[in-house]
Amino acid sequence: MILILKPNVDKESTEYHQLLHYLENFSDIEYRVHDVQGSEVRLTEVYLIGNTHELSRDYMVGLPTVDRVVLVSEAYRILGRHEDDGRPTSFEYNGLKFGQETFHVLAGLCAVDTRDHVEIMMKALRDNGQVCTRMGAYKPRTNPYSFQGHGKVCLPFVFELAGKYDIKVIAMEVTHESHVDEITEALELTGQPTGVILQIGTRNTQNFELLKAVGRQLTYPVLFKRGFGITLDESLHAAEYLASEGNRMVILALRGMKTQMGNPPRNLVDFAHVPVVKRLTRMPVCIDPSHSVGSRDRALDGLLDVMHATAQGVIAGANMVLVDFHPAPDRALVDGPQALRMNELELFLRDTTIVRDAYFDRCALIKA
Ligand code: PEP
Ligand code: MN
Repeated sequence: MILILKPNVDKESTEYHQLLHYLENFSDIEYRVHDVQGSEVRLTEVYLIGNTHELSRDYMVGLPTVDRVVLVSEAYRILGRHEDDGRPTSFEYNGLKFGQETFHVLAGLCAVDTRDHVEIMMKALRDNGQVCTRMGAYKPRTNPYSFQGHGKVCLPFVFELAGKYDIKVIAMEVTHESHVDEITEALELTGQPTGVILQIGTRNTQNFELLKAVGRQLTYPVLFKRGFGITLDESLHAAEYLASEGNRMVILALRGMKTQMGNPPRNLVDFAHVPVVKRLTRMPVCIDPSHSVGSRDRALDGLLDVMHATAQGVIAGANMVLVDFHPAPDRALVDGPQALRMNELELFLRDTTIVRDAYFDRCALIKA
C-alpha cells in the first residue's frame, strides 16, 4: 500500500505526525517515506509493508496530509504501475526531463580512449543540437586482458569537454560503488560542468549489492540495462532494488538478448518489450541498438542494421536511444565494429526523427 501525501507536506506539522502516530499503532507494519523533488513541488509517498489490511483506508484518506491511497500488487511496488496510481512517470535531472513521454538520443563513445576522440564526438553532438551523450570509463570486459577503460583518470577531461560543448547529461557505466565517488570527485574538481546518469550494465543486472549501493545515492539517475539471459520479470525486480533503496530516477534499457539462434545480430533485438515495460512500470524506456545488433552491417535498402533496430524501438514508443559512435571505429579500443561514423550522425538523427513522428501519427490514428 502506498500513501500519496499532499504536495509539499510539512514534516514538522502536527498533521503529518498524526499520520505517523496512526501507523506506529501497528507493530507488524513497516513504513518508508520517500520524497520526490520536482521543479515546482515536492511529493511525499509513504510505502507500507506488512499486514496492511489492518489499516483503515477511510481513516487515512480522511487525514489532512493524505491525498490518496494506492493499493499495490506484490510486483515492482515502487517502479510498477498500480490501479488508480497516478504517480509520475518522469523525473527531472540537470535541466532535462526523462519520462515515458520524452525522447532523447545518447550517442557517444562505447569507451573513452583519447581526449581528441571525446572532443570530436562532443563537438559533433553540439553541432547537431544534442545535449546528451554516452561515455564509458569503466568497461566490464569478457576477457580480463582486454582494455578495461581508462577509469577515473579520464573523467576530468571528459567532464570539462562536456561543459565546453554544452552537454548536460553523460550516461556512464559503473561496475563498482567506488566509481560513483570517483565521478562525484571529478565533477567537483571540474566545477560541475555536466551531469551523469549512472549506467548498470547487463552483466551486473543482478549484482544486488551494487544495485543497493547505487540505489542509496540520490544524486544521479540510473540507466539500468536488462539482463541478457534472464526473464523480463527478473530484470524488473532487479531494477526495483534501486528504488527500494530510495532512488526512483530509473530508466530501463533494452539491449538485446542472448539466444541459441546464433548471429547476426550479436543479441536478439528485444524492442517489442518497449510498450510492455511502459505498461508494467513507470520507467522511461531506453533502447540500445548498438549492443543488440553489434555490427555496422548495411541492409539491401541502404539503411544500416543499427538504424533499422533503432526504428523498431522508436516506432514502439522508446524514450531514449543509447548508440555507439566513434570518430575512427577501426581504432576504437572497445566495440569498434558496431560504432557508427561521425558522418552518419546527422543521418541517424534525421532518420530517428522520422520514426518518432511516425510513432505520434500512429498514436493519433488509434485515438481518432
Ligand atoms: C555498454 O553500453 O557499453 C555496455 C557494456 O552495454 P551492455 O551492458 O548492455 O552490454
Ligand atoms: Mn560496448
